[in-house]
Amino acid sequence: MKLAGILPFARDILQKSVTTNGIAIDATAGNGHDTEFLAKLVGDNGTVYSFDIQDQAINATRDRLEITNLEKQVHLIQDGHEKLETYLSPTHHNNINGAIFNLGYLPGSDKSIVTTPSTTIEAIQQLSKHLKKGGIIVLVVYHGHEEGKVEKDMLLPFVESLPQTDFHVLEYRFINQKNTPPFIIAIEKK
Ligand code: SAH
Repeated sequence: MKLAGILPFARDILQKSVTTNGIAIDATAGNGHDTEFLAKLVGDNGTVYSFDIQDQAINATRDRLEITNLEKQVHLIQDGHEKLETYLSPTHHNNINGAIFNLGYLPGSDKSIVTTPSTTIEAIQQLSKHLKKGGIIVLVVYHGHEEGKVEKDMLLPFVESLPQTDFHVLEYRFINQKNTPPFIIAIEKK
């Protein structure tokens, strides 16, 4: 396939927005793949804040960072991303280059632990405030499970209402695939 798949597309966008020495957020660490990716993008002197509420995710991410020798530039935070602002160092305010959310549940883990619309929206609100100009938030929306559908239905009107004067908002999805595949919402600060 020549068209970028969902995950490669997400990484393309992050790569465009997250620079060496930059500030990035992995809002849902999960198994740590995106935290590792962001830590490489920002380099030794950049910063990644990586959030997850589950032990399993935090431990998996920590292990991955140790193996790849990337712990130094990552703040691993076992707390909800809706509290992002309380963890952000004042020097990083209004200075975030990029952020990613992989919504839904962690495959192979407790499927009752899912991201929820109100906390996801709260985190996006805080993040959009602290993005720098040209900074991008990427949301990978998994809506094949019941709560995911509810989340999608609340998220779309919210992102569609972000003012055009301040943000570019994009949806990227394959429209002929079965089994409700994930899709992307990207929000760029003007
Ligand atoms: N559905 C994706 C993976 C999503 S992982 C896929 O299939 O690849 C989502 C992660 O978000 C989980 O590890 C979960 O613990 C975490 N999470 C849920 N609510 C959260 C919150 N409020 N703040 C931070 N992380 C949260």
